[in-house]
Amino acid sequence: SGKWARAMAILREFEEKCGTPIGKLRQVADAMTVEMHAGLASEGGSKLKMLISYVDNLPTGDEKGLFYALDLGGTNFRVLRVQLGGKENRVVKQEFEEVSIPPHLMVGSSEALFDFIAQALAKFVAEEGEGFHPAPGRQRELGFTFSFPVRQTSISSGTLIKWTKGFSIEDTVGEDVVGELTKAMEKLKLDMRVTALVNDTIGTLAGGRYHDNDVIAAVILGTGTNAAYVERAHAIPKWHGLLPKSGEMVINMEWGNFRSSHLSLTEYDHALDAESLNPGEQIFEKLISGMYLGEIVRKVLVKMAEEAAIFGETVPPKLKIPFILRTPHMSAMHHDTSPDLKVVASKLKDVLEISNTSLKTRKIIVELCDVVATRGARLSAAGILGILKKLGRDTIRVGEKQKSVVALDGGLYEHYTKFRTTMENTLKELLGDEVAANVFVEHSNDGSGIGAALLAASHSQYL
Ligand code: ADP
Ligand code: MG
Repeated sequence: SGKWARAMAILREFEEKCGTPIGKLRQVADAMTVEMHAGLASEGGSKLKMLISYVDNLPTGDEKGLFYALDLGGTNFRVLRVQLGGKENRVVKQEFEEVSIPPHLMVGSSEALFDFIAQALAKFVAEEGEGFHPAPGRQRELGFTFSFPVRQTSISSGTLIKWTKGFSIEDTVGEDVVGELTKAMEKLKLDMRVTALVNDTIGTLAGGRYHDNDVIAAVILGTGTNAAYVERAHAIPKWHGLLPKSGEMVINMEWGNFRSSHLSLTEYDHALDAESLNPGEQIFEKLISGMYLGEIVRKVLVKMAEEAAIFGETVPPKLKIPFILRTPHMSAMHHDTSPDLKVVASKLKDVLEISNTSLKTRKIIVELCDVVATRGARLSAAGILGILKKLGRDTIRVGEKQKSVVALDGGLYEHYTKFRTTMENTLKELLGDEVAANVFVEHSNDGSGIGAALLAASHSQYL
């Protein structure tokens, strides 16, 4: 029928615009490398902030004692404690708790948000039990993973540049987030000191390095996306401080804000961006990360509903609600292998109150999910290639077989199997067999939590 043909036409046109042939991915990777150079050359030199993290030493395995970590980065935050036993005993014991952030606190006041966080932390500390040994007479120490763009002023302080991922609290912008947290802890008489303020990428890098010495970069694919890597300090022209003893400095790329004319932006992406809390910003993130993939799918479905009546004569009211279709729903539909696509049918019904779809329509939806996820996954791989290029690890030099490990973390990477597989396969495709044999992508399980605790340990006030 005409309506069917029209829906297919919308899908094919979208697919074509989303295309990421290998040549285009190479252009994206090259552009990433160029922007990395520019961002390292001068403050504001690029869309990539290439933030200096003040982390010039990564964990060695010698860390010892009880340390806490707090991870704030999306819809949940986690508190964690870990008893570190040094080279021999490593992680002796760990415990964590996850708390979801009430949505009104994500757009409320700074004080309310940090009070809430400090309360959860205080409660967690109060439950400290057997197997955890605070050093007598010492303050407890905390690694704070704060996964938003921060301008670090030291390893344990930094001001918020802007919120992302659905957070929007004006009075925190420009403030020292450690100061905000410390104020809230003091109100509760919680005697604890933040000794490391890091980003989730840096925490993941630290956690990854603790387990594997060849980890050189970390990438987060979760609600948002970002990357961090180990740079040679003398390759950072904008760094005017003392050169660290290690000769190295971890750089928080804030790659979510990358953009390039080589990224394939469709009308749906432009609309999503225009309607977002941060128009014109985080364009790479809006193509790749978990906060947005489901929403892109929803937007294309609205178009199909309006112009091809795939769900009947009217557009189903629920479908019109922004962000109602979440990436986990999309992922569930995408992975549906039942012959009659019953997972797709049930998601449509449960999430969008759409029933009685034809199998043909459900097939279109699976294909649509595939287009959106594939583009995101392939672009992430191109981003990783950009980092490897910057480090000269995208080729094999004669007589040199250096192993490169990229630590990956985040809910999207962990749970969206097709996304993950496509990303990993695309990276191999980009690198070629010989180089790919020396490049590994490793899931750094809760690297961000443990990583922050490890960095709290290596930056302890008692060292
Ligand atoms: P954050 O990025 O907020 O720190 P996570 O790393 O846990 O948190 O990532 C959560 C994100 O991962 C969710 O916003 C969602 O987009 C994505 N996600 C979680 N579960 C799934 C799933 N089953 N399929 C696809 N994406 C998922
Ligand atoms: Mg996270």
